Parts: sequence; C-alpha cells; structure tokens
Amino acid sequence: MSNGGKHLVIIGGVAAGMKAAAKARRESPTMKITVVTDEQYISYASCGTPYFIGNIVKDSKKLILRESPYFKNMHNIDVFTRHQATAIDTKSKEVKVNDLEKGQYLIFNYDKLIIATGAQPIVPPLPGISLDNIFTLRTVTDAFKIKSCVDSGKVKNAVIVGGGLIGLEMAENLVLRGIKVTVVELLDQILPPLDKDMAMIVQKHVMEKGVDVVTSDGVKSFEGNSSNFVTKVITGKRQLPADMVILSIGIRPNTKLVLQQINYET
Ligand SMILES: Cc1cc2nc3c(=O)[nH]c(=O)nc-3n(C[C@H](O)[C@H](O)[C@H](O)COP(=O)(O)OP(=O)(O)OC[C@H]3O[C@@H](n4cnc5c(N)ncnc54)[C@H](O)[C@@H]3O)c2cc1C
Repeated sequence: MSNGGKHLVIIGGVAAGMKAAAKARRESPTMKITVVTDEQYISYASCGTPYFIGNIVKDSKKLILRESPYFKNMHNIDVFTRHQATAIDTKSKEVKVNDLEKGQYLIFNYDKLIIATGAQPIVPPLPGISLDNIFTLRTVTDAFKIKSCVDSGKVKNAVIVGGGLIGLEMAENLVLRGIKVTVVELLDQILPPLDKDMAMIVQKHVMEKGVDVVTSDGVKSFEGNSSNFVTKVITGKRQLPADMVILSIGIRPNTKLVLQQINYET
C-alpha cells in the first residue's frame, strides 16, 4: 500500500482506533494519519479497570498504555483528544469535529476514514437513575470515578445490576475492598452465555467469596437521600440498601454518527 500524500482520519482512539492507526503507519510511512477521540485518554486497557478499582492494579499508568505524544513522536500520528466527530460528509470527504475544550468546530478532510467509535453501556430509564453514585464502567475515566467513590470509605453496600462478566469482575473487586456486594440478575442464572449447570458452579464460588447473588429479579427503581445520593435499590422482589450501584447490563454500539450519515445520503 503506498499512500504517500493521502490523509487517513480515524474516529475513536481506544483498542480498534489506535491499532488501526499503528497498522496504517506500518503499511505507509508517509501517509498523514489523524485520530480524533472525544475522550481524554487513548489506547487504554478497559479489561484492567475492575482490578484497578480493586487495588490489584495499583498504578493507573498500567491501564493507559500509550499517550498522544508517544504516537506523535514514535509514529508521526496526530491524536486529537477531547475532540468529538459530530458529522461526516462522504461526498466532500469531510468530518466535522467539535473541540470539546474550546467549543469550536473544525473540519478534517480525509481520503480514507475509519470509524472506530466502539460502544457505550446501556443505562435504562428507570426512576432514580440519575442519582449520584450510580455508575457504569466502560472507560478509564469511569474507573477513576468509581475508585474515588470507593476510596472515600463511604461505601458499605454496593448493588451490581447484571451478572455478566463485567458485573462479576466488579463484584470480585468490590468485595476485595471490604464492601458488601449484591448482584441482581434478571435471568435465572448469572453469566448467560454459560449453560445453567456451569453457571451454577460459578455462582456457588462467587457466593462462597462473600457476594450475594439474586437471580430471576429485576431492578425497578432507585431511591436516594436529600443530598441526591443513592441509598436503596428497589427490585421486583426486594429492597436492597446501596451506597453505590454499578450498572452492567450490556452495551450498545455507537452508531449515531454513521446512521446520521446514512440518513443524509438517502
Ligand atoms: C470493564 C471491562 C472489562 C473488559 N474486559 C475484557 C477482557 O477481559 N477481554 C476482552 O477481550 N475485552 C474486554 N473488554 C472489552 C474491550 O475493552 C472492548 O472490546 C474494547 O474497548 C473495544 O475497543 P474499541 O476501540 O472497539 O471501542 P471503545 O473502547 O468503545 O472505544 C471507542 C472510542 O471512540 C470514542 N468515540 C465514540 N464516538 C465518538 C465520536 N463521535 N467522536 C470521537 N470519538 C468517539 C469513544 O468515546 C471511545 O473512546 C472489557 C471492557 C470493559 C468495559
């Protein structure tokens, strides 16, 4: 591939975006490569974030593998953090980008475009959902917020909504931090991809480690105190005390940007 004077723009700067940028540079030493991401951090390991919250990974630098200067200095890749792509015009080959710090719009012309905008956690529109200390975990910034809440020492009871992989990793790590944890799962088993008999083995192990697991029960609402902090999770069958809630009920792909473009073209 020889793309001497061409410009590759990549939207999204985590696993897919930065890997695409690095691979493009290996293929073409001279191509201009630009990455835009709405986040402050790039190229980080989401997988380690539960263990950072649990104090097993002690240094946040182990989560953030590379920062923008590394990509500029080592690979001549320009990374624009806190820049959100808001529209794509495929006819004129332009991406409209909002500089989130300055509140200014920029236009990036491209010859090739890679969309690596990933996904975001599902947040159900339940009563009380906007109370403080109800979190999702996707980004390093999310992990910093959750860890800071745990480090405050004020969290005695946590409820984890969703018994999938992220929910259970959070349960493991919050228990390590001395917090009483209840996992609430709507289905009749945790870890839905597993057969039930296998999931029951995991559930038994998790409960032996001190986690309460309730299945076949769904969260209906959240209650809080006068300072707007969550205090209780109301499920179909229970009321659970909660100083912290982690929502881990799945993710949705970030398709808004692309769908806008499809609508624009039709
Ligand atoms: C807690 C946790 C544990 C995990 N553990 C594992 C594991 O053990 N093994 C494993 O394989 N995977 C694991 N994963 C999944 C893995 O982290 C994801 O698959 C990976 O992050 C996906 O990378 P991505 O680049 O496709 O998307 P994302 O990580 O979602 O990155 C997309 C980026 O694009 C940005 N963006 C979106 N829209 C725009 C826009 N319009 N303009 C600019 N930027 C935009 C987003 O803000 C984000 O920074 C885990 C994930 C989490 C949250």
